[in-house]
Amino acid sequence: MTTICCKCLKTKTDNGWTKTDSRDANILSHGYCPACYQETIKKIQNYRQQPSEHTSP
Ligand SMILES: [Zn+2]
Repeated sequence: MTTICCKCLKTKTDNGWTKTDSRDANILSHGYCPACYQETIKKIQNYRQQPSEHTSP
């Protein structure tokens, strides 16, 4: 089973995450590579931590 990162389109292989031609791979699962996963988590956390009120600097 091949997992492809839906953000940077890298696929998971035995050697780690590498960029491959997705047309040649048997893609069965979409997800995030570790780098994009961390990025996404941070963005979500930053979004949640922002105050709901809109104030000008
Ligand atoms: Zn990625």
